[in-house]
Amino acid sequence: MNNQENSTSKINSNRPWYLILHWQVFMAMALGVLIGYSPVGEFFAIYFGWLGDLFMRLLKMIIVPLVVASIISGVASAGGGRVVGRMFGKTLLYYLVSSFLAALTGLLLFNMINPGRGYPVTDTGTEPPDLATPESPIDLLLDIVPTNFFASASAGDMLGIIFFSIVFGIAITTLPDQSRTKITNVFDLLFKVMISLTSAIIKFLPIGVFGLMVTLVGKTGLQSFGNLFQYVLALGSGLSIHFLISIPLLLYFWGRVSPWKHLMNLRETLLVAFTTSSSAATLPVTLSAVRQKVGVSDRVSSFTLPMGATVNMDGTAIMECVGALFIAQALGAEIGFMTQVAVVITALLASIGAAAVPSAGLVVIFIILNVIGIGDNPEALLIVGAMLSIDRPLDMARTAVNVYSDSCAAVVVAKWEGETQINKEIR
Ligand code: ASP
Repeated sequence: MNNQENSTSKINSNRPWYLILHWQVFMAMALGVLIGYSPVGEFFAIYFGWLGDLFMRLLKMIIVPLVVASIISGVASAGGGRVVGRMFGKTLLYYLVSSFLAALTGLLLFNMINPGRGYPVTDTGTEPPDLATPESPIDLLLDIVPTNFFASASAGDMLGIIFFSIVFGIAITTLPDQSRTKITNVFDLLFKVMISLTSAIIKFLPIGVFGLMVTLVGKTGLQSFGNLFQYVLALGSGLSIHFLISIPLLLYFWGRVSPWKHLMNLRETLLVAFTTSSSAATLPVTLSAVRQKVGVSDRVSSFTLPMGATVNMDGTAIMECVGALFIAQALGAEIGFMTQVAVVITALLASIGAAAVPSAGLVVIFIILNVIGIGDNPEALLIVGAMLSIDRPLDMARTAVNVYSDSCAAVVVAKWEGETQINKEIR
């Protein structure tokens, strides 16, 4: 993970602004909108639109190996032994509860704001797609367990892949020390390879965004921006509610710690998370704040935080839930109760599979789109493109939420492990 941390901070420092990726994306979006809206828009959409398709294919290409490597290395890094097993259970409990609350918050905000309603794509005469929906919660549960891992991998059945990766990672933690370290190292290396491939592909984001924006604006004009604004509103409200209400409540009731004091202790860390957009890059700062300012032991913090950086992503879970439902609604699809249940569960699993680097959340949104059967819908891909073009500030905010939740998990697990030094002015 260290290479990744260093490279992310290097990417963001000491460069002229026009070489920084998010500014390039912004310029590409502006250019795409201008050209798409101009009289030559149609011409450009025909001859340059394929750049967007190419970029989307590259993103899809990396999903399976990236998610597998990310989950296995994150879970296996927990280590082995009975004490670790006990801490693992407690940490996982916090992570599951907080991510589930996050996805539910996303669902609530989606239903209140309905950001995709009236999206112009639905007026172009294309038939709204039928969403693939499990019949009942039991069906959903059965869908999660794959009958054949390789068949799931080749069919892009991400739920099965995620489930298998989690149990495979847990099985690794039960091996004797030497074997466990060896196989964990293999998956750590594989994860590093996939991160470097992802970073290389993300560098082409401005080109992809240009191709997608030219096509989108050429086709639907500027009307879709009103819906995008509502998507930002729904996501921003969800992130704020989770950050200001849900996590503080967990911290207060489970950690018995003043949420305000904890927030103050974490403020620099949150700023780093916000500016780097990467939980992994923030990890050293999170570790130091949680140990030195909050007073959590090395034993608990070095267990919960690295695992949390990869596995626990509350902000990402909110984004996956709101984002996928936004796309389905924009396409005019009927979104029933079971679809919403499926999206919440899948958003939780997708957030576990997202890597802790900038823009990872939008790579794994394909997981949910595949589950509800619109992963290959060309209109859906255009909407993902529009979301990509405005993702940076949203990514900054959800990364801060991700890191904040990790730090709270460390406090809660430390409390459950009987630690008494928390928030006792240790420096
Ligand atoms: N950038 C986020 C993180 O590192 C992941 C995401 O894109 O949602 O925590």
